[in-house]
Amino acid sequence: MIDLRSDTVTLPTEAMLERMRRAPLGDDGLDGDPTVGELEAAAAALLGKEACLYVPTATMGNLLAILTACQPGSRALLPATSHMATSEAGAADLARVVFEPIAEDGGAIQVDVLERSLARPAARVALVGMETSHAAAGGTVLPLGHMAEVASLASSHEARTHVDGARLWNAAIALGVPPAMVAASADSAVLCLSKGLSAPVGAVVVSDDRFVRAARRIRKTVGGTQRQAGVVAAAGLVAIESMIERLADDHARARLLADSLTRVESSAFAVSSPATNIILVDLSDGAPDSNWWATRLCKLGVAVRPRGPRQLRLVVHRHHDDADVEAAVAAFQTIVGTLDGTTNASSP
Ligand SMILES: *Cc1c(COP(=O)(O)O)cnc(C)c1O
Repeated sequence: MIDLRSDTVTLPTEAMLERMRRAPLGDDGLDGDPTVGELEAAAAALLGKEACLYVPTATMGNLLAILTACQPGSRALLPATSHMATSEAGAADLARVVFEPIAEDGGAIQVDVLERSLARPAARVALVGMETSHAAAGGTVLPLGHMAEVASLASSHEARTHVDGARLWNAAIALGVPPAMVAASADSAVLCLSKGLSAPVGAVVVSDDRFVRAARRIRKTVGGTQRQAGVVAAAGLVAIESMIERLADDHARARLLADSLTRVESSAFAVSSPATNIILVDLSDGAPDSNWWATRLCKLGVAVRPRGPRQLRLVVHRHHDDADVEAAVAAFQTIVGTLDGTTNASSP
């Protein structure tokens, strides 16, 4: 099976498993786990921030950022289709914070809408969020100038800026800059270690000392303090030491896949031009819907993720090679062949 559903399916490398076996361990809820400490120091340095907190998931990292930055009754302004606004909206309930969606263009919040929202005489805005790369927008990368502008607007209203950078590594590679430059305008950022970087679990929150101390206390409250977490943090260390540069291969292969799919020349779908490792396939009105495509592709050995009735998401990662790209394109071609033979494509 060529699994294009997500880069979360990537498995740990041999180097990770070896480092996990040798990792010095301690109790991270008592006097600390040395491998977790090493990962937190390395990630803070790599991202140009004072401090770092290791968390089980990026979702928990974002929740801790909300709980740390926002007082109950305050507002958090988030890009309308961001992961935080859509898949993690339960955090608003837990933190008793109002999540206010801000309209986007290609994953970037509309600055004029943000300005109006900040200026509204409503509850105080405690936090302004961004996401890069932006998953729902198709792995798009925020321009650094846009990020700086948003952060400066937020800070002029005494709001903190939080970047959900689950795939910030991909953004840095696409921009050709160090990850610290992408995180520069963020007061806090969350980065996932278990997507393209292939660690089995884990994410990091980076920010200033004070923020991370507060988030560390709240992590205990939500049950995120793990004892000998060095076993998995060891894989995270290998991830940030040796798995970032290779994301360029995923991006190149995503472009190859998108270009090849474009050459299939079917009126049934249109393919996005990927900035990173995510490709969106928009299905034409009247053509079969996303579940139909996902089922047919699955039978041909290609797993994709339907996103709503008219879109498929394809994510390229470490377990794919050029032959997989060819095979995936051939599967689309096969299905298109059967479509062209039907007069009513929507009821095959
Ligand atoms: C995957 C993802 C998350 C959640 O990551 P988990 O580690 O699976 O909790 C958050 N934000 C974005 C943008 C993501 O893509």
